[in-house]
Amino acid sequence: MPELPEVETVARDLRGLIVGATITGAVGDWPRAIASHPTIEEFSDALAGRRVESVGRRAKLVVVRLSGAAALTIHLKMTGQLFVVPGGSSADRHVHVRFALADGRELRFRDIRKFGRVGCWPLDPVTGEPLDPADGGALFAGTGPEPLDDAFTLGAFRRRLRGRRGRLKPLLLDQGFIAGVGNIYADEALWRARLHPLRSVGTLRPPDEARLHREVRAILLEAVERRGSSIDDYTAPEGDGFMQERLDVYQRTGEPCPRCGRPIRRVVVGARATHFCSWCQRLPAADRRGAAAILRATRAPATKGAPATKGRRWTELAAEGSLGLTPAEAERAAARARAERARRAAATRRANARAGAGSTPAGAGAGEDA
Ligand SMILES: [Zn+2]
Repeated sequence: MPELPEVETVARDLRGLIVGATITGAVGDWPRAIASHPTIEEFSDALAGRRVESVGRRAKLVVVRLSGAAALTIHLKMTGQLFVVPGGSSADRHVHVRFALADGRELRFRDIRKFGRVGCWPLDPVTGEPLDPADGGALFAGTGPEPLDDAFTLGAFRRRLRGRRGRLKPLLLDQGFIAGVGNIYADEALWRARLHPLRSVGTLRPPDEARLHREVRAILLEAVERRGSSIDDYTAPEGDGFMQERLDVYQRTGEPCPRCGRPIRRVVVGARATHFCSWCQRLPAADRRGAAAILRATRAPATKGAPATKGRRWTELAAEGSLGLTPAEAERAAARARAERARRAAATRRANARAGAGSTPAGAGAGEDA
């Protein structure tokens, strides 16, 4: 499921593709994908004629600001993907909403599991934030602070922790506590901070809070730089991310912990798979009984039964020409991918060379001299 870094990447890619374009309408085959209007026709009417002024992100939603004081939000949820394609390109059955642009292109929302939602909202004339006309309140009223904002200081984090009880993993996933963190980066941040996922908030000492604050921000920043983690169905308009190669514990059950070498463990907390190292992430004695009770009460999800609905991965669609990139765009994307692969290969060679030089100071070089 796309989290802050993945949605940020989608928003940045989209920015380069649609800012300045005018939306002429929307069509779709899945009315439940529309969060703001009862029908796709009304949603389309609300969008028609509006120009895209900017593309940003709030929590896990893409926020497209439109002319005439409106915003289009796109919540990718589990499997949502966005592509900008020439109008009339072939589409597979997982494309559920298509936004027509005046220049002939289409913005397509592809969503295999169909949990994703889009909406068109008026903006508050005072704050400029999207409003939910259903209750007149701000759409993001219940959403916590952005962890990468300058305002999200250690002091601000501590003040939010004061009012909280419960365990760290569910707390980090709570979008009202902090925006944008999901299963992947909660597990990674807790491992980096050496804090057990079932640690209770009340047992945190000031240095624990400082580590958690630092590591949540660090992992999210690093993941944004790497275009997010392309696990399962996540991809962005200009291609996959590569943070998945840098994850230390997420979906690495049984592999050695990069810090201590003991196997990574997996438990289910609140129906979410949770990965951690029981050696590096110790539970204080006061938390052990409560944690054991939580683990007894949760059963691992059944592995039998019907597999989850899965479409083809985005990369598998390329042969049909449905990616929507013009040849020039495809070449640019390929060039970027080649440059990135070359850069990573060079970094690996340098790391190997350094490791080799360190362990055998009089190795190959000495042999050549002789
Ligand atoms: Zn460890």
